[in-house]
Parts: sequence; structure tokens; C-alpha cells
Amino acid sequence: MAPILKSPDELQIMREAGRIVAVAHEEMRLAIQPGVTTKDLDTIALTVLGDHGAEPCFLGYAPGEHPPFPATITASINQELVHGIPSDNRVLEEGDIIGIDVACFHQGFVGDAAFTHPVGDVSRSAERLLRATESALTAAIDASVVGNRISDVAKATMKRAGRLGYSVAREYTGHGVGRSMHEEPQVPNWWHSRRSKHKWEDCDLQVGMTYAIEPMLIAGRPDLMELEDGWTVVTKDGSLTAHFEHTVAITEDGPAILTLP
Ligand code: MG
Repeated sequence: MAPILKSPDELQIMREAGRIVAVAHEEMRLAIQPGVTTKDLDTIALTVLGDHGAEPCFLGYAPGEHPPFPATITASINQELVHGIPSDNRVLEEGDIIGIDVACFHQGFVGDAAFTHPVGDVSRSAERLLRATESALTAAIDASVVGNRISDVAKATMKRAGRLGYSVAREYTGHGVGRSMHEEPQVPNWWHSRRSKHKWEDCDLQVGMTYAIEPMLIAGRPDLMELEDGWTVVTKDGSLTAHFEHTVAITEDGPAILTLP
């Protein structure tokens, strides 16, 4: 299926949706410290979205076999890769790293972004993982130019992660973003060889394409499983993970990040 291209006016609305997400990120970053619960952070995000007249995309989201997601953010701590469910019982501890994903609807369009943040002082290895994941996101954004293909974006993530000594989540990908949270194309963090079991459609990058790039880096083996809550994805070996995401647009002047404050 062909990607849905956005007009400059539509991009302007998407920039505003992205800005609201970025403001929610900033408010949560300021609140992250030992003793805070993931539910507290969820409340902050819901308030920011409400203050801007935006609505959470994840709340009630129930694709496939998943139960409806019960919150505004996903909050994933340490070995949790993505899709952690906020809870009053989940208290942040010194040394944790927490990944938070937020997406909102604003005037019919979606903004979607995620970051991972240290809780108090964290280990050197956790710091390294955070920097590497951000670096992989930067590499993928830099590859988001006309003349490249989606496979070039995926390979940029994969190569940067590999060079820094990390594996990437293969089963979870970025995605087109627009009037819907998930559009074509999928934006993988990894590109298949001829014999691999995961395969994605490739496509040329075109002006007006908008998609979320979301590298998920793993300090250990990239084998994942879903917990019984039907959402939380964790590494099987318990190794540390991090996740950063921006929604970007392909423009004549290069990649434009839409999820900035
Ligand atoms: Mg997201």
C-alpha cells in the first residue's frame, strides 16, 4: 500500500500535535524521580493533552488480541521494552531507566514520540545505552531523505546500534503517522536478509511522507516476550532496554522532526 502524503497545511497541524506530545514529555521529565509512580506520570501527560484540547491515542486502544490499553502513556522500566501499563503500584527507584511513549490526536492528526530517562543516578552501562539509543534515532532521522528508501532508514538504525554494541528489537517497528496512529509504511529497526523470518515492504521516501522512527535497543539478546497483562513486552534474558521515538516528515529540505516543543 502506498504511504499517505501530507500537504504543507496538514504538516502544520501535525507539528502542533507533535508539540503537544513534546510538552507532555517535558513535564514528565521534570517529575521523574525516585518515589514517583508510573500512574503519577500518566496523570501529568493526560493533563497536558487535555490543557491543549488533544486526546490520548493509547487510551482504549485494542488492536488484535490485546485488551483495551487503560492509560495515556506507556511506561516501561529497565528490562521492559515497550507497552508497560502505568500503575499506582509501580514506584520508580533510584537507578531505574524509564521509557515513556505518548501519542495524541489533535485536530484530526496524530503526534507520536517516546523517550527514556534515568531515575536519579544510574549505572554507566545504563547511561551508555540511553546515549546509544538516541544516537540510533539520530542516524535514522539523518537517513530520512529523498533518494533513500525505508530499508536505508532501518539499516541506519541497525548499523549504529550494532557499532555501539547493542541489538535491536526486530518484531517492533516504527510506522507511518497521520490521521491514524499507524499508517503505511512500517519503519523497522532492522533489515532482513533473504532468509530471515521477519520481512517488510520497502518503499522510496517521498516529500510529504510522515512516519515515526522508534529504535528500541537491547543490552543483551533480542529475544522478547509479552507479559500476562497482554501488553508489557520484556527481554527474555532480563537485559536492559531503551526506546526513543520522533515523528518526522520528509521535506525537500531534508527530514523535519514534528515532535519538538
Ligand atoms: Mg509511540
